[in-house]
Amino acid sequence: MVTAVALRLAAQRQEVNELLAPLRLTLPDLEKVQALMRQEMERGLGKATHANASVRMLPSYVCNTPDGTERGDFLALDLGGTNFRVLLVRVTEEGISMASEIYVIPPPIMQGTGENMMLQMLPLGFTFSFPCQQVGLDKALLLTWTKGFSASDCVGKDVVLLLRQAAERKQHTALKVVALVNDTVGTMMSCGYDDPKCEIGLIVGTGTNACYMEEMKNVGTVEGDQGRMCINMEWGAFGDNGCLDHIFTQFDKLVDESTINPGKQRFEKLVSGMYLGEIVRQILLEMTQRQLLFQGRHCTTLQTKNIFQTKFLSTIELSNGLALRQIRAILQELELDASFEDSVLMREVCQAVSLRAAQLCAAGLAAVVEKMRENRGLDTMSVSVGVDGTLYKLHPCFSQNLQKTLKELAPNCNVTFLLSEDGSGKGAALVAAVATRAGL
Ligand code: ADP
Ligand code: MG
Repeated sequence: MVTAVALRLAAQRQEVNELLAPLRLTLPDLEKVQALMRQEMERGLGKATHANASVRMLPSYVCNTPDGTERGDFLALDLGGTNFRVLLVRVTEEGISMASEIYVIPPPIMQGTGENMMLQMLPLGFTFSFPCQQVGLDKALLLTWTKGFSASDCVGKDVVLLLRQAAERKQHTALKVVALVNDTVGTMMSCGYDDPKCEIGLIVGTGTNACYMEEMKNVGTVEGDQGRMCINMEWGAFGDNGCLDHIFTQFDKLVDESTINPGKQRFEKLVSGMYLGEIVRQILLEMTQRQLLFQGRHCTTLQTKNIFQTKFLSTIELSNGLALRQIRAILQELELDASFEDSVLMREVCQAVSLRAAQLCAAGLAAVVEKMRENRGLDTMSVSVGVDGTLYKLHPCFSQNLQKTLKELAPNCNVTFLLSEDGSGKGAALVAAVATRAGL
């Protein structure tokens, strides 16, 4: 009898291991991802190869990180994938102060003379977290929507012009859109105000993306060889050319197929908040079908798309062996009657999915820091990364797993991670400030 139970458990364990094995990446797997990212970066930067590269390496026209001499009042709009914010940012000698959410234009400007209004025109930086072909700091054609957006009549249009026209329609004449900034760039700039070594921006929120300072001589898509320019990598699309097919699991394919952009943003769909919960849900469905979970009881709620949110991963992974109550509370919400063993197994699934996401993100970053180190001809390099995004900030293990893997993949780089506070909006205002400083 005891042997029968033990045998059954051992068989179940083996089946779970086999099911999760494709999600568990080895160091050589990750080194290969790093090498592929590096290859795609080169293709994206090259004049001849750029058009067909999956990582688009878009020039941002931001050539300097802040130097502390920026001054003035700036507006910032921040359109992410989930949040939209309006900020008034005041940059003074003492530092930066911000009022966020809703900004009311002060009566002296609102009710003053038109001349006053022209004099007090506020420069505005617009954080726009979607891939754009920038032609300059204030001209950016939307290449494609991502992260579930599909608003009509925008793709191919100049987003700055659209914003200016919208402002005109609303008769908001006291603002001047001077810069469109990707959220990665905004985050880098925001952290760069406090740390001059911050030359990389990273987002792990609804979606994922990164930017970094590249040598102009390596940017084949923009004239000129002097200095550096920040490159918005658009790394979410890494793998759209099939180069990551070997790591996609059956679960990733199911998730991809159910999105409004199948086959697109393949790397993003392994890493970011919009998708991790869905990957876990697909695994749980398979486990239920194989009678590895809930004693095989049929569960209809688990078949509802997006029912298993990415924030559940955070709660579940936070709970230790003694406190599995949170897991059971979540499961009860989903009308799932979970045993102790079920809870432990679900935590294992969440851990596998979030660990893989953090490791893949690290492989991408390793490609970036190693390229920067080589660019500068250094044996070792110290650099800081400004990070924004709720998944990175709130998941209990994501940042540790990311940093640990990055150390293994890029041992010659000493990388510091800085959390951006109100990052991308503040950064957009700083880009506007730098642009006004330069008299652009
Ligand atoms: P955006 O990407 O729109 O700028 P955020 O950075 O706030 O917005 O990211 C939102 C994403 O973060 C959501 O898609 C959600 O999946 C994820 N998220 C929200 N709460 C948590 C949490 N507690 N733990 C992990 N991920 C979370
Ligand atoms: Mg954001």
